Amino acid sequence: MALIVQKYGGTSVGDIERIKNVARKVKARVDQGHQLVVVLSAMAGVTNSLIALAGEISSDPDPRELDVLLTTGEQQSVALFCMAAREMGMPARSLMGFQAAILTDRMFGRARINFVETRRIHELLDKGRLVVVAGFQGVDEDTGDITTLGRGGSDTTAVALAAALRAEVCEIYTDVEGVFTTDPNVEPKARKLAQVSYEEMLEMASLGAKVLDIRSVALAAKFGVRVHVRSTFTDREGTMVIPEDHIDEKLMVSGVAYNKNEARIKVRGVPDQPGVASKLFTPISQAGIVVDVIIQNTSADGITDLTFTVPKTDYKRALELVQQVAQTIGARAVRGDTDIAKVSIIGIGMRNHSGVATKMFETLARENINIQMINTSEIKISCVIEEKYTELAVRALHEAFGLAQQNEPEAEEVSRV
Ligand code: ADP
Ligand code: ASP
Ligand code: MG
Repeated sequence: MALIVQKYGGTSVGDIERIKNVARKVKARVDQGHQLVVVLSAMAGVTNSLIALAGEISSDPDPRELDVLLTTGEQQSVALFCMAAREMGMPARSLMGFQAAILTDRMFGRARINFVETRRIHELLDKGRLVVVAGFQGVDEDTGDITTLGRGGSDTTAVALAAALRAEVCEIYTDVEGVFTTDPNVEPKARKLAQVSYEEMLEMASLGAKVLDIRSVALAAKFGVRVHVRSTFTDREGTMVIPEDHIDEKLMVSGVAYNKNEARIKVRGVPDQPGVASKLFTPISQAGIVVDVIIQNTSADGITDLTFTVPKTDYKRALELVQQVAQTIGARAVRGDTDIAKVSIIGIGMRNHSGVATKMFETLARENINIQMINTSEIKISCVIEEKYTELAVRALHEAFGLAQQNEPEAEEVSRV
């Protein structure tokens, strides 16, 4: 008998039939004698419509109240699921984030989990209950206020619970069959990876592959949680996210990711003096805005240009802050551009291969796609390009690095069911 944490995403619980389908899947595992903790997202579209409702009242809703509102999405899905589970004879008990004692800091909208007090969950499991926890939410340990963990945060709830409960595995059930070489909804030829390392997955998630929330991957790596990403709608094996030294085949490039959620800010004619970059970026970081790619041009006549990207959601605020600083440091102009995307290739095998960057640049050049910014790390290369070329770039890179599937996946996989 194993303790398993399962998480089902929004599409998986998107309507009543799907909620019943999930309850049947859970029952099959419970009937095998396993102890289960189930984490659910809000039904598909619910979080977005709650955000839209708040937006009808205010362009900048109070963050505390927004979190109170958004957590109702998961409150609905866990209650409905428990009803469905009980109809099937499972003694299910729902817990909201505060009841499951998922203790966070006070950063509404993007709270971090500090601690999970598992006593209540253990008590329920010991009584033979099926424990069903609302994803994406926690409670500020100092004030008791309700918090949310950021979009896609139910993955993080699941991994945090798996770590705290020392679960055998954390199964992330979603609408695709695992982690693919790129978004299968953009490139139908994308291939499912049997295994992916924490490090690669961390890069993929941070570079836009939303199949796993980045914080969930960081937590899994920190606590060594084995994560199995798989489909709600088939029984096929998915992708195991595991330590690098357990990976059988270290691919040079294992994935292509894209991100359309960044915007670029260019500060022209910046005096090339010590302290200028710090003056520009300090107010941005103080506002909690995460800067991604940064480029500083070589200076001519003591003047340079600084270009960087920020999340689109923080773009307006970042632009305002930069405009204020630009005046005080005597920069010539500030320009913004939201029409960009970042495409990236990721692979642990890159550590031992040269020529990967050249191949990426050549591939984009062949498609006549101009590279506006470049950023590299040991296991990834990212290029900022014009947004309208995103899909073209993803497919071309996927092809160029030989990632497309060779066989019909259905035929290959059936034998493993
Ligand atoms: P859930 O609601 O179950 O949490 P998400 O929508 O957050 O699901 O994540 C699943 C989606 O991630 C897929 O539908 C797919 O479009 C997208 N995705 C992006 N990159 C990848 C990738 N490399 N592998 C698998 N899915 C990916
Ligand atoms: N419901 C939340 C969202 O849509 C959390 C999640 O689905 O993981 O972002
Ligand atoms: Mg998700």
